[in-house]
Amino acid sequence: MASSRLRVAVIGAGSAGLCSARHILSRPLTFEPPVVYETTGQVGGTWVYIEDPRNDFYTHSSMYRDLKTNLPKEIMEFPDFPFDPSLPSFIHHSEVLKYLEEYTDKFSIRPHIKFNTRVVSISPVIGDHEPVSWRVTAKNREEEVEKFDAIMVCVGHYSHPYIPEIEGLKDFQGQVMHSHFYRYPEVFSSRSVVILGCGPSGVDIAMELSLHADQVILSHRGPPLTWTPPGNISMAPPVVSAAPNTLVCEDGRKIQADTLIFCTGYKYNYPFFASGAEHGDILDWGFLEGEDIESPDLGKGHLPPLYNQLIHARYPTLGFIGACKIVVPFPLVHCQAQFFLLVLEGKRPLPPPELMLSECRQQLIKHRASGLPLKYLYRLGLNQWEYNQWLADAAGFEPLAPVMRKLYEVTRDFRGSDPLIYRKLNFKILNREEFEMYMDETKE
Ligand code: FAD
Repeated sequence: MASSRLRVAVIGAGSAGLCSARHILSRPLTFEPPVVYETTGQVGGTWVYIEDPRNDFYTHSSMYRDLKTNLPKEIMEFPDFPFDPSLPSFIHHSEVLKYLEEYTDKFSIRPHIKFNTRVVSISPVIGDHEPVSWRVTAKNREEEVEKFDAIMVCVGHYSHPYIPEIEGLKDFQGQVMHSHFYRYPEVFSSRSVVILGCGPSGVDIAMELSLHADQVILSHRGPPLTWTPPGNISMAPPVVSAAPNTLVCEDGRKIQADTLIFCTGYKYNYPFFASGAEHGDILDWGFLEGEDIESPDLGKGHLPPLYNQLIHARYPTLGFIGACKIVVPFPLVHCQAQFFLLVLEGKRPLPPPELMLSECRQQLIKHRASGLPLKYLYRLGLNQWEYNQWLADAAGFEPLAPVMRKLYEVTRDFRGSDPLIYRKLNFKILNREEFEMYMDETKE
């Protein structure tokens, strides 16, 4: 007898994919065990450190040797699976990988993962207007095709470096790399290094390099630093052009540099959605054509139109778990995965597709008015807490504890005011509303 339970494919076994699988497995009456496709040989995604990155974006993450988390473990953790409480608040990346491996085993996810299997194509099988199922083609040694009722896309967005256009860059004779390929600072000994971008990776890598390089120049457009960096770190406006031995900044300043490191973030990339109507036009925003919105780069954008940054506005059985930016990822995907599964179970009705598309359109108009680039369309920042609360209220599951937002804000303020010392902080959550904190003077 055919099963009436839903079959869901989970693409990726990083934190988002593992969390999605865990929640599918906890609903055995409605869902068959998931099929989790993972292109590498292990779980963990971002948190798998590969010492020797090959020039293949899929086989390594951006993790560098000495990275410690920039969020305390007390808010990074999934609400139903705590980190080892004996660990300090800011931990080495290997502890996060260990945690994700333990999560995998605790919720018996591993038997459902197809390792070394890359999804190469996903397309809807369209019935009367709606997709009745999804066809997933995956490649291990050979290609295999399977059908599913729903898809949870959990491939992350830290694998495809974004490199801004810099005039004359190909003539620059120094070393050019993206932070995706950075591993440790010793190899930059006695060099003059320009870091373009002053986000968390730019600042962290500058600190690491300052112990070995001759000089480190943080090139960025942001406001002046509110903290005093080590003596061999200086600031410069963004690099806009290059000559064989020089990098030229926006204000005309010329820098003699040995190395340029792009800490300029990443692009979304969903190569398994082919373009064209026969593949469902998943990444297509064509519904905006003829509208009074300027959308010159939408055709090139690789972002799908998502209702509530989560569900494809035309295909409600296609969920994107963890596609939002500037968030605390594990608790966020914990909420998104549950919301999406409750939708699939029919327990949380969605508006009709016309309305979801219209909401996407409104979101885009608002975003355009903000002047921010399209890649930040799904950036949540401080709004993530209302968003998580909305998901929980709308679908009826336990919301995140309010203490998480408080702890997030304290961490953000400390990190902004002094990135040299914030990792010495330790937190202890007392209850859903309160936490304690103290500075550990003994640690480096
Ligand atoms: P990923 O971890 O990227 O996992 C995606 C998985 O999908 C990978 O295993 C990949 O192999 C697989 N995959 C991709 N394409 C396919 C395909 N076609 N078929 C099959 N499998 C596929 N977050 C924090 O909370 N705290 C921090 O301190 C922190 N520090 C960070 C530091 C760096 C340098 C970076 C890059 C990120 C950091 N993050 C941090 C964010 C981190 O990425 C998230 O915590 C989280 O791990 C993202 O999980 P994910 O599952 O969405 O994506």
